Amino acid sequence: MAKLIDGKAISAALRSEIAAEVTELKKKGITPGLAVILVGEDPASQTYVRNKQKACEEVGFHGEQINLPATTTQEELLAVVRELNARTDIHGILCQLPLPCGLDDSLVIAAIDPKKDVDAFHAENVGHIMIGDQQFLPCTPAGVMELIHRSEIAVEGKHCVVIGRSNIVGKPMAMLLLQENGTVTICHSRTRDLAQVCRQADILVAAVGRAKFVTADMVKPGATVIDVGINRDENGKLCGDVDFAAVEPIAGAITPVPGGVGPMTIALLMKNTLTAAKQQNGLV
Ligand code: NAD
Repeated sequence: MAKLIDGKAISAALRSEIAAEVTELKKKGITPGLAVILVGEDPASQTYVRNKQKACEEVGFHGEQINLPATTTQEELLAVVRELNARTDIHGILCQLPLPCGLDDSLVIAAIDPKKDVDAFHAENVGHIMIGDQQFLPCTPAGVMELIHRSEIAVEGKHCVVIGRSNIVGKPMAMLLLQENGTVTICHSRTRDLAQVCRQADILVAAVGRAKFVTADMVKPGATVIDVGINRDENGKLCGDVDFAAVEPIAGAITPVPGGVGPMTIALLMKNTLTAAKQQNGLV
């Protein structure tokens, strides 16, 4: 039976460490501020933004939600970003993606001051991740690394296979594993004999977006299996990319969905905002 990597508990521990730091910062007159821009009324995005707001309150941040109508023009949206860039009480800015039709997310990402880019999506921050001298780590991959560290799973020398090559998850995930001296393989939709490649993994990270995509025959006995996917199964129930029931008896350690990577992403967003607040006040 695999060791269950409890993202809920690890995320709670991290958030309470952040809250303790915020208490100290407030004594110096600094309250970390995070602005989250939501354009339109996509229900999933509304839920994500609400959760971010709630997380801000829990750790003692100033959380500001900026709701804009779906009819907002590109220029109006960029003007909001520029205003937030100029504010000294806002240390982190993010724009909830995807944006409604007609708005270009790459222009918005490029407009956010890299020092306030707590999602680490700006090309300047992506470049820092490539070099390995990053200020902010992209939240989901960094959340995975935090799970690995706090579960005392060594990366060095291990064969790490990442399924998925998105800019948000797959690519930065591979870079972070490489930075810790893993031997990294990135798989994607054109990879040949995916199961055979995955079976070589000591650490297998699935970021595909397809329910039960990773089956038992793709997993080496004893491997660490990290499931980034958020999907709905045939009954509408939340599930990951890994066929948990089939893989769990084979794996050495595994993250559940829900309760694995998901809670870590928001915790890492809080950590990045805290880092941004400290940097902008000359404290790091
Ligand atoms: P994406 O759609 O941008 O990328 C999916 C990747 O999977 C692509 O690179 C593609 O090449 C690969 N892929 C698709 N079909 C494949 C196949 N048959 N074989 C091998 N590779 C294949 O998605 P994303 O933004 O990277 O997100 C991936 C999943 O992670 C989604 O379920 C998403 O909801 C979830 N996610 C979770 C969190 C979290 O906080 N837990 C955060 C971000 C994304």
